Amino acid sequence: MTTRQQTFVIVGAGLAGAKAAEALRTDGFTGRVVLLGEETERPYDRPPLSKDYLQGKSEKDKIYVHPKAWYAEHDIELRLDTRVTGLDLAAHRLSVTGGERIGYDKLLLATGSAVRRLSVPGAEFDGVYYLRSLADCEAIKAAFAAAGRVAIIGAGWIGLETAAAARAADCEVTVIEMGELPLLEVLGREVAEIYAALHRAHGVTLCLGAGVEEITGTNRRATGVRLADGSVIDADAVVVGVGITPNAALAEAAGLHVDNGVVVDEHLATSDPDVVAAGDVANAYYPHLRTHLRLEHWSAALNQPAVAAATMLGRDAAYDRVPYFFSDQYEMGMEYSGYVARGNYDEVVFRGDVAKGEYVAFWLHHGRVLAGMNVNVWDLTDTIAALVRSGRPVDRAKLVDPDVPLDQVAGGPASGAR
Ligand SMILES: Cc1cc2nc3c(=O)[nH]c(=O)nc-3n(C[C@H](O)[C@H](O)[C@H](O)COP(=O)(O)OP(=O)(O)OC[C@H]3O[C@@H](n4cnc5c(N)ncnc54)[C@H](O)[C@@H]3O)c2cc1C
Repeated sequence: MTTRQQTFVIVGAGLAGAKAAEALRTDGFTGRVVLLGEETERPYDRPPLSKDYLQGKSEKDKIYVHPKAWYAEHDIELRLDTRVTGLDLAAHRLSVTGGERIGYDKLLLATGSAVRRLSVPGAEFDGVYYLRSLADCEAIKAAFAAAGRVAIIGAGWIGLETAAAARAADCEVTVIEMGELPLLEVLGREVAEIYAALHRAHGVTLCLGAGVEEITGTNRRATGVRLADGSVIDADAVVVGVGITPNAALAEAAGLHVDNGVVVDEHLATSDPDVVAAGDVANAYYPHLRTHLRLEHWSAALNQPAVAAATMLGRDAAYDRVPYFFSDQYEMGMEYSGYVARGNYDEVVFRGDVAKGEYVAFWLHHGRVLAGMNVNVWDLTDTIAALVRSGRPVDRAKLVDPDVPLDQVAGGPASGAR
């Protein structure tokens, strides 16, 4: 008797999708693996699109998750330019553009996120750019090469990294932000001020506390940004970085539990026993934090797929890494480990030389480290993550003293909530 070959389908050929395909093969799955992606490029890493690659400092070949031949070599059926339009959970079947149906035994949703679009007048003009895909990056790179003045709407990670790239391209740059400071909600005032100073030192004009009324233009081509106070910032190119939303419509229409992304447990299992989700689209339960989080971070898209694949294979695995992300702007490279709910910390303390730009910032709550951000000092991620995960109170004097090793600053019992 022959047993039917199983088919595992992955929707979304980004980093999470590609790593899941890899994990299935590494774990010994010998059935069909079908990887469906709506983009025309094979899976690639997005972080370089606002950093080295946007600045023309790295080769295109370097951004791909796997070499072209890898998919055939591992018997992965990679189907690009293929958008999944429907999911029938009961029938275990997907529909793709053109009407084709694809059946699955197990399904991974790795559909990622899409940029949030501006809805002000003029937002549809030529010369208004968003940054998510390789094609977006190429268009912005060309625009920076031709532009004298660039306006960037939104001082989040994407907006600020893009501002640094525009400065590297010798453009005059204005960053427009509704909040009082760049990154204020993510980092709090202490570190947000450092980022504001960094950009000003590099010649960027920060327009803070500013609402956008309109993109001005001539013949449907952007010429600037009109602010709520009536002033106009002239620009040859406008880049919008005002956040992203999870691509969860497919899951929601199918009846999966969706709430700020596809809701999954620590096994990355959805509300359907044969469907898992990973990466930007997954709102996953983190046992050590005792909460669900949807992280828009490269590290989750890199590491969650191994757990998703194990769950697809019926093995017991859980995802509970300390959240991690990184950013590079001008000479300031950083890694951030941990999680701080908006504003929910008592103080930020610094270890090292802030003036020289080599330090670690720690966010503390009730004497415990919630998160640490190492700036231009490296190989600390594991130690910081261990400190965060331990939930143990730290000796503040030792924490800020670079002569005391970081693994010797904690004492006392762990709090229950880590
Ligand atoms: C410019 C940029 C810079 C970044 N820099 C950093 C950084 O420095 N540090 C950091 O931690 N993170 C960074 N990130 C975030 C990081 O890249 C994301 O967290 C990561 O890409 C998420 O991967 P993913 O595979 O979950 O989703 P995605 O990368 O969004 O991939 C999902 C894929 O699924 C496809 N898809 C969606 N719906 C369908 C459908 N119905 N049918 C078929 N295909 C579909 C999408 O087109 C996309 O190709 C950056 C992101 C961007 C855009």
